[in-house]
Amino acid sequence: MTPLILDSHIDIRWPDPPDWLGETAQCVDLPKLRAGGVGAAVFIAYVPQGPRDHAGHRAAAARASAMLAHIRARGAAEGVRFCASPEEAEAAFAARQPAVLAAVENGYAMGHDLGRLGEWRRQGAIYLTLTHDGHNALADSARPKKNLGDAEEEHGGLSALGRAAIAEMNRVGLMLDCAHVSKKAMLEACALSRAPVAVTHTAAAALNPHPRNLDDEQLEALRATGGIAQVTAVAAFLKPAPPNGAAQAGVSDLVDHVEHMIRRIGLDHVGISSDFDGGGGVQGWMHAGETPAVTLELIRRGYTAREIGLLWSGNFLRVWRQVLRLSVT
Ligand SMILES: [Zn+2]
Repeated sequence: MTPLILDSHIDIRWPDPPDWLGETAQCVDLPKLRAGGVGAAVFIAYVPQGPRDHAGHRAAAARASAMLAHIRARGAAEGVRFCASPEEAEAAFAARQPAVLAAVENGYAMGHDLGRLGEWRRQGAIYLTLTHDGHNALADSARPKKNLGDAEEEHGGLSALGRAAIAEMNRVGLMLDCAHVSKKAMLEACALSRAPVAVTHTAAAALNPHPRNLDDEQLEALRATGGIAQVTAVAAFLKPAPPNGAAQAGVSDLVDHVEHMIRRIGLDHVGISSDFDGGGGVQGWMHAGETPAVTLELIRRGYTAREIGLLWSGNFLRVWRQVLRLSVT
């Protein structure tokens, strides 16, 4: 039996998202999800890093909220379902209806208002990525933004507000995503979080020392939380770029990173995401319709149906379930 394929990180065009029910120029739309057998898609309310003043934070919060409402509306279309719990996603899969899920990328959208975290959860968001590129009020980023005046480090890890945000995310059942977060802040977050931690789009620094990738110490810390690292289809994370060129990578490079992580922290702590429409796409897996290529590569390398099911969704759903179980709402 084909397992539930869950893609944990997909961007959407914003503003003016095209009608996703028909064919589009995007890597992900409903026809491509169906063609690729993708049963659950986490669409991202992504908020770019901007000025950290009152007006900036207000605009960021408004954007996150509007994008979450848009993603929820996607899930209201005929033949698909908006899902805000693992049980709902599994029921949608059993009914052969693609599950639409939502998450927020960049804690900048919270400003200094911890109440936003519960609001996003009530809007159906399943996780928050603590930072994007550029430091915010919560934590240092793995990639400071020099054009926004970022120093190499600002908080030396998490800020007091960032620590409070993690406690509040644990409380309201919003999964903590440490993609984009600096190593120090990520290790601190793993030590602090009462619930398992996810890194929803990343790769292994041991194979390619990119600032967005996780080194083995970070992988161990993630495993200690019971969490998960989702290897993503961004060529620059998977392979070093040649001089004067862009990185080229394919499905087998992606699976090399998956296998490195399996060797380091065990299969139960590894998963897969595309980062489609946000820079993701490797040779052989350029859009959602080509998703079976990844499954075929795993089969070719000898993984069993059960293991492939864990990599595609079982591990992610376990982490998500645990996050909700440990919440107090
Ligand atoms: Zn991202």
